[in-house]
Amino acid sequence: MTDLDVLVIGGGNAALCAALMAREAGASVMLLEAAPREWRGGNSSHTRNLRCMHDGPQDVLVDAYPEEEFWQDLLKVTGGQTDEHLARLTIRASSTCRPWMAKHGVRFQPSLSGTLSLSRTNAFFMGGGKALVNAYYRSAEKLGVQIRYNAPVERLELEDGHFKAATITTPNGPQRIAAKACVLASGGFESNIAWMREAWGQNEWGEWPADNFLIRGTRYNMGTLLKFMIDHSGADIIGDPTQAHCVAIDARAPLYDGGICTRIDCVSLGVVVNSKAQRFYDEGEDFWPKRYAIWGRLVAQQPGQIGYAIIDSKAIGRFMPPVFDGVKADTLPELARALGLDEATFMQTLNDYNAACVPGSFDHTQLDDCHTQGVAPTKTHWARPIDTGPFYGYALKPGVTFTYLGLKVNDQAAAHFGGVPSDNLFVAGEMMAGNVLGKGYTAGVGMSIGTAFGRIAGTQAAKFALEKIAS
Ligand SMILES: Cc1cc2nc3c(=O)[nH]c(=O)nc-3n(C[C@H](O)[C@H](O)[C@H](O)COP(=O)(O)OP(=O)(O)OC[C@H]3O[C@@H](n4cnc5c(N)ncnc54)[C@H](O)[C@@H]3O)c2cc1C
Repeated sequence: MTDLDVLVIGGGNAALCAALMAREAGASVMLLEAAPREWRGGNSSHTRNLRCMHDGPQDVLVDAYPEEEFWQDLLKVTGGQTDEHLARLTIRASSTCRPWMAKHGVRFQPSLSGTLSLSRTNAFFMGGGKALVNAYYRSAEKLGVQIRYNAPVERLELEDGHFKAATITTPNGPQRIAAKACVLASGGFESNIAWMREAWGQNEWGEWPADNFLIRGTRYNMGTLLKFMIDHSGADIIGDPTQAHCVAIDARAPLYDGGICTRIDCVSLGVVVNSKAQRFYDEGEDFWPKRYAIWGRLVAQQPGQIGYAIIDSKAIGRFMPPVFDGVKADTLPELARALGLDEATFMQTLNDYNAACVPGSFDHTQLDDCHTQGVAPTKTHWARPIDTGPFYGYALKPGVTFTYLGLKVNDQAAAHFGGVPSDNLFVAGEMMAGNVLGKGYTAGVGMSIGTAFGRIAGTQAAKFALEKIAS
């Protein structure tokens, strides 16, 4: 018989919520984080906010964001690929979790202007996700959760869906850690380029698109346990390996951990061309907060998986400026040369676009009437000629935020095996987010899902372990 009640695998928001809840319930808890201490916290350390339902103004949230509206938003972005029961459970939990978070040291602030207009729907963490995970780690340490860093779990020992032990890699070889119950919260597989390559395959030009992906978050979400569960456990899987939240980001971003500062938010104010200097999608289809998450995939579908956002000086001051300056030139031909694009084609593309802009009343706060006519693709809003120097260009690459493939769970966060819930193996966070979010995204819901299911998973794991002791 093992002494440890609850083993939590992972070191981000979902894992920490589970560990804290299990410990508060009286269980002994160990948390295994693959990363070293200085890189702890996974993608959660890159976050800024969580989406919260509320029926009226609350602390940092204005107006109301009722359950039904949140649910309709989820339904829309997922195209129906969501489990309504689990989605509504997440939504309701999002309205009550903030006092608990605050108890563990998380501080909130009103949203700043320019943050995708989220002041009604999203509560922002003071100091961002880094401060949130640091607060949770501090609280966990204080409560006596045993935390082990540099502890990547390689495999689990399961018997008919019942958890027995996990094996971690240590400098001295593998180490077996047994516990009465376990919570899996080790994220998606986006950091595993080989797996992303396999999932995305080759394109029509013989390229492997994933070779040009950048990973916005941690390098430690290798999907080791997801792979183990898929290949060796018989667990029920949910989601599609090719689905990932993918944003077009600054092509100069590092392979991992570029975070939110790599965003380029000027697409709707100009045009985007590919490496052949041709436009390929309506840059003004809808408000940028509703479209930014489709541009990663759009760029991924272009040759070389690269795009170039082109603006003129009229756009400056109308979007959140990127951290690093773009390529700047006094004329469009100079800009084409500086970006390494074919000058003649580039000028043809820009001249065609400029000539197609129908004069209207430009208003970036509305779906205005500035559109193009007679050019493909059409730009439906905010189309103004790009004619006032200096001109700016930003190279864009696909930036993967997280993958959607995960494990099937029920409302107690239990992993399922052939449709049967496990009695002592629970799942939280990105590893099960696909139950609620089969595709698409609405800002802040990742942390809502992780917080709701992390807390449920920790509670259920502790309940099982403590009942075991009592019986
Ligand atoms: C740049 C960026 C910005 C984002 N902004 C927001 C936002 O503002 N709001 C929002 O809701 N969502 C946001 N997201 C999404 C959000 O990060 C995720 O939805 C959420 O953090 C998932 O939490 P998690 O605990 O499941 O995973 P993570 O926080 O990624 O944690 C996974 C943990 O598991 C560990 N791990 C992995 N494999 C193993 C293993 N084999 N053994 C042990 N440990 C392992 C990792 O080291 C890591 O600590 C953002 C993501 C990125 C990348």
